[in-house]
Formats: sequence, C-alpha cells, structure tokens
Amino acid sequence: MTIAVKTLGKPKTTPEALLNALFRPMGIDGVYGRTGKYEDVVEALAALISRCRPTGAEVLRFPPVVSRAMIEKSGYLKSFPHLLGCVCNLEGGEREIGAAVDRFLAGEDWTGALKTADLVLAPAACYPVYPLAAKRGALPAEGYVFDVACDCFRREPSRDIDRLQSFRMREFVRIGTPEQVRAFREDWMSRATAIAESLGLAYRVEAASDPFFGRGGLLVSKAQAQQELKFELVVPVRSAEKPTACMSFNYHRDHFGQTWAMKTQAGEAAHTACIAFGMDRLAVALFATHGVEPAEWPAGVRKALAL
Ligand code: AMP
Ligand code: ZN
Repeated sequence: MTIAVKTLGKPKTTPEALLNALFRPMGIDGVYGRTGKYEDVVEALAALISRCRPTGAEVLRFPPVVSRAMIEKSGYLKSFPHLLGCVCNLEGGEREIGAAVDRFLAGEDWTGALKTADLVLAPAACYPVYPLAAKRGALPAEGYVFDVACDCFRREPSRDIDRLQSFRMREFVRIGTPEQVRAFREDWMSRATAIAESLGLAYRVEAASDPFFGRGGLLVSKAQAQQELKFELVVPVRSAEKPTACMSFNYHRDHFGQTWAMKTQAGEAAHTACIAFGMDRLAVALFATHGVEPAEWPAGVRKALAL
C-alpha cells in the first residue's frame, strides 16, 4: 500500500473567518445553516465526484434515517454506541399525547413520555447497501459497485468547524472477492489523491483508525491501524499539526458479508470496502486553503470544480 507523505502548510483562512463566511448558528454546536456560497461549492464537489464515478456503479441516495434493527445487526452498538442518534416520538391517543403536551405547557419535563422508534439517524451512507445487495442472492462474478450518499448524524458536539453533528457523506462501495475489493481500495487511494491535487489541497494519506467505544475499543483501534483497514486523506483545515480527515478508505474484510450472509459465486463471504468523501469537510478544506471567496480561487481549482 503506497502512502503519500507531505509536510503540510498552514491553512490560509482562520476558523473564525470560515465560520462567519460559511455557516449560520442554529443554537447547537456542530449544527449549522449553510450559506449559498458554501452550498455552491458542495454542489460543485458533488458534481466533480459524479464525474469520477466508477463505471457501472449503481447510484442510490438514502434518507437521513435508517432502520434501527439494521444498524443493530450491523454491529454499530458494539463499535460506536456513543455516536448514535435515535429517533423517538410521542405515541398513544389524544389522552397520552395531550398529557405530555400539558406537562410541557406547565413548564415541566415532557420528554419522559417519548417512546423509542424503529428509526435511527444514519451514521454513514453505506450501511443500507449491504442488506440490499445480500437480498439479491450470490454476487455476480464482477461483484458490485455502488455510489451512495446521505445526510449523516454523529453525536459528537464540538465547536470545531470540521466536526459537525450533521454532515453530508458520499461513498463508493465495492462488494466482491477479497482481491476485487482490495484492488478497488488501492486504486481509489491514488484516484482520490489526484482529486485532492486538482483541488489545490495540501494533503497526506495515512493509516488511521475509528474511535471505537470504551477501553476495549482502544485495542480494536490499534488492531485496525496495524492491519491497515483504514486510511484517511487528511488536509490542514484548523491547523497543519492536526490535519482533518476529508476522505476515508475503509476495508471491512468479510464483516458485512458474514453479517448479511452475502456470498460470492464461490460461496464465500463477500468482502467489502468503502471510499467515503466527507462533503462538508472537503468544502470547508477548500475555503480554508483558498480563502472565503471562490471567485478568487486559483483558475485550475475553479476549472476542476467547473465553477
Ligand atoms: P468515517 O466513517 O468516520 O471514516 O467518516 C467518513 C468521512 O465522513 C470522513 O472521512 C470525514 O470526511 C467525514 N466525517 C466523519 N465525521 C465527521 C464529522 N463529525 N463532521 C464532518 N464530517 C465528518
Ligand atoms: Zn462506508
């Protein structure tokens, strides 16, 4: 696996200037209204990624909520229970719901009446794809490539401009034999660096790990990094010392193949990988690097984005 190593320079724009130019506060850390100037760049990025879409990829767009049972079965509660957002609502007839509303109107707590729904907020774009592909029976010889996206939620409130609770994720997902999946991830690690180059971003690709829950999670994180199951393309957004992961290259081995009994033609558990583009982080990285005025960005960058 080749890893690009670079000394990263300082971002041009300060986080405060970025916040003012791109976002509008909504009273909760990590949840922002987005300005038109910012959304134009997010849309241009999405179009650029579409132009790079792998041939034959099946396009699916998912809503920001997914089945709770599906996320439970995917193993999310073992890995990231601290990040999950669950939907809850008032249930019952007029009497029960009315009683909760009355408590609210009386200035009392009404939220105790909430019942957990069968929905959770999507923590990543790729989860729904695995059960969907598994239902089709054994994989075709060439496997599958999907292009998926959704609004994601992770309960990690922060004032940092690059750590949102609600953000957009786009992913290319590969499902197939270990060889097909590993080759796809390797290929995309170099394609992604070409995208970062075309966007004029300073970047580095490095082995990484996920923030698995709890003390046991530390060991899992270490093993993940050692086995090179996750790489990230990082870009200076808030500082050069702590660059921000804007794209991830994840190899799940046969985790989802086993979970969903998804088999290759040879009858073995399918392997999977996903290439995740953090749309909001990429957009913020562009503004941090080139300044808050896209009209003044380098001509090459504007051309790459068809701005
Ligand atoms: P992950 O599944 O953690 O690898 O996330 C996939 C991509 O989503 C990352 O490479 C980031 O670009 C983006 N991302 C993850 N967490 C956040 C967050 N809290 N705020 C904004 N973007 C995020
Ligand atoms: Zn994924």
